[in-house]
Amino acid sequence: MAITPLMPVYPRCGVRPVRGEHCHLIDEDGIRYLDFASGIAVNLLGHSHPGLIGAIQNQAETLMHVSNLYGSPQGEQLAARLVEKTFADTVFFTNSGAEAVEAAIKAARAYHQHADGNPKRTELITFTNAFHGRTMATISASNQEKMHKGFLPLLEGFQYCEFDNLEMAKSMVGPKTAGFLVEPIQGEGGIRPASDAFMTGLRALCDEHDLMLVLDEVQCGVARTGTLYAYEQYGIVPDILATAKGIGGGFPFGATLATEKAARGMTFGTHGSTYGGNPLAMAAGMAVMDAVANDEFMAEVREKGERIRARLEQFIGNYPDLFELVRGKGLMLGIKMKVESRPFFVHLRDHHKLLTVAAGDNTLRVLPPLVIGDAEIDEFFEKLSAGASDYVIPEAA
Ligand SMILES: *Cc1c(COP(=O)(O)O)cnc(C)c1O
Repeated sequence: MAITPLMPVYPRCGVRPVRGEHCHLIDEDGIRYLDFASGIAVNLLGHSHPGLIGAIQNQAETLMHVSNLYGSPQGEQLAARLVEKTFADTVFFTNSGAEAVEAAIKAARAYHQHADGNPKRTELITFTNAFHGRTMATISASNQEKMHKGFLPLLEGFQYCEFDNLEMAKSMVGPKTAGFLVEPIQGEGGIRPASDAFMTGLRALCDEHDLMLVLDEVQCGVARTGTLYAYEQYGIVPDILATAKGIGGGFPFGATLATEKAARGMTFGTHGSTYGGNPLAMAAGMAVMDAVANDEFMAEVREKGERIRARLEQFIGNYPDLFELVRGKGLMLGIKMKVESRPFFVHLRDHHKLLTVAAGDNTLRVLPPLVIGDAEIDEFFEKLSAGASDYVIPEAA
């Protein structure tokens, strides 16, 4: 047999981590890596946060899982906390980001298919280079053909519009439009923040035509950008929002947040999940909220983000052939390169033991744990500078 026991859908690299220590990963051979990838914006408290570990240990000893057939004091507590801290009136818990987006898509459709709605409104307008996950609905919501190949037919009900092009979005609204599904800051697409005018314009279109503004904050949410959710920085509120990645700090779960109005179609028996919101996930979520959902923590994220950004901007000036610009918000930063970003990301990983993430549009993603301190920031710049100075741009194939 040639196929590996682990289904070979990932081109995995040679780094094989077995242990985490705060902002570092240690691999099988004992080599230490500075982790400015955070499992792709997941480990926001780093790898050995006592509060998160303790919460999971305690809950595992007490009660790991019960069915959603029973009352959930743990789920009620975390949902109430999210409701208190956000635009939302109600929360559905999932096990992943894609499932949170799926539930968001279902809620947006069900809003219009409600008795008081307009069942012709079945289409969500989504945006070029978006990433919403790998389920059938979420790949159908993205225009990226590389994710479609081999998995046809796609699901109906998605129209693709150019990202950040408000005029085009306006022109696409028709009698079948149910709403918009958008990442306020595209992650996989290359850390591209939507403009203020675009986000406020989409909100206005939704108000005018009774459409659902659905935000995918799976990557940019949970304090990553210096506010609990990125929409706060646009001065708008969504109708529905998908969140995951950082929300469990490494424990896999997600959530779909909605206003009471937007959730009117999500009634008894319409949706569900066996594991969704189980006590173990809720304990992890409460520990993450305890750590991040306060003004001091968020102010620190903004301050560290601004400091890294200023240093990055100064740094890239030394290598005008390699780097074009820095973009992003808070600790969700991207360095757009003038050359392919992937080989440089590999160079930093293999030769300088610095973990970052490659993204679309030749962007290098810088997604450190939100708990980094001065020492980690200095180490990052040492490794990045060393990596840039000994980098040899590979010959085009
Ligand atoms: C990662 C991601 C998803 C998918 O989350 P999974 O947990 O991998 O299913 C969806 N949307 C965005 C913006 C993401 O970054």
